[in-house]
Amino acid sequence: MNGLLQASGIPRKLSGKVALITGGTSGIGAATADLFAAEGADVVITGRRAGLGQEKVEALCKYGVQAAYVQADHTRLEDCEHAITETIRLLGRIDILFNNAGIVMEGNAENTSEEDWDSVMNLNVTAVWRMSRLALPYMRAQGGGVIVNNASDWGMVGAENALAYAVSKAAVVQMTRCMALDLAAGNIRVNAVCPGDTFVLRWLEKGYFEASDPVTLEQAKVDAAAGLPMKRFGQPEEIAHAVLFLASTDSSFMTGQTLVVDGGNTAR
Ligand code: NAD
Repeated sequence: MNGLLQASGIPRKLSGKVALITGGTSGIGAATADLFAAEGADVVITGRRAGLGQEKVEALCKYGVQAAYVQADHTRLEDCEHAITETIRLLGRIDILFNNAGIVMEGNAENTSEEDWDSVMNLNVTAVWRMSRLALPYMRAQGGGVIVNNASDWGMVGAENALAYAVSKAAVVQMTRCMALDLAAGNIRVNAVCPGDTFVLRWLEKGYFEASDPVTLEQAKVDAAAGLPMKRFGQPEEIAHAVLFLASTDSSFMTGQTLVVDGGNTAR
């Protein structure tokens, strides 16, 4: 991929940049890591699963860039600090921070437990602020940087039986606006991507689909997406392209915005 892009003379959008992606071992984070590496960025991914992390790093290095995995549970302050200092130690700078790690919990106001509420808020909200706060001194010292937060279409509209999650993602949207205003004069842009339903392997692990073979799974996905405007779920790669747009100079005059990538779901 690296050689092909260079040989064709197409400039790579992230050459010379260092990107830190939280939760980069699977789903949208992993797809974004691939796209960033294909576009020439050196990439650090974090996550809790060391085996998956090392496998992903090997795949990223095939793009001819530097890549590293740092084990981190982003609900822990010391792990967040470690992720930032390791990125600086290994690659010397942080140009792009993609705050991607997040969890979803089902539940309404009556049956959401204190524990579930805290888990969702600690990761989906506090870790986004915390990772940004820790990266900012380096971005300021470099003269600029870009933060992209992974919110959700459920941060833009009401959601049923996903109270803590939807509230957490609305907080990310508002955090994006507030941080963008505080940082705009410092040449640091902050934007959010709001994916709609995007099929990731985690959905299988969570048992959202009962499918014994690929054909049955495809049919189950078609059935489950029948109520969506485009009659299908998004793919992680489709979200990654929006993240690339927000992370690159293609969006150089954009800050404090939310880019909704949901196949039209919130247009109704
Ligand atoms: P995913 O489960 O594949 O990815 C989440 C990643 O976060 C995983 O790599 C996971 O290991 C990591 N993670 C979870 N808890 C962590 C912790 N405490 N510390 C460090 N890493 C942790 O699912 P995904 O759909 O790719 O989710 C990525 C982001 O996209 C999330 O913020 C999610 O809310 C958001 N999102 C997803 C969808 C969708 O339909 N898939 C829609 C809207 C928003």
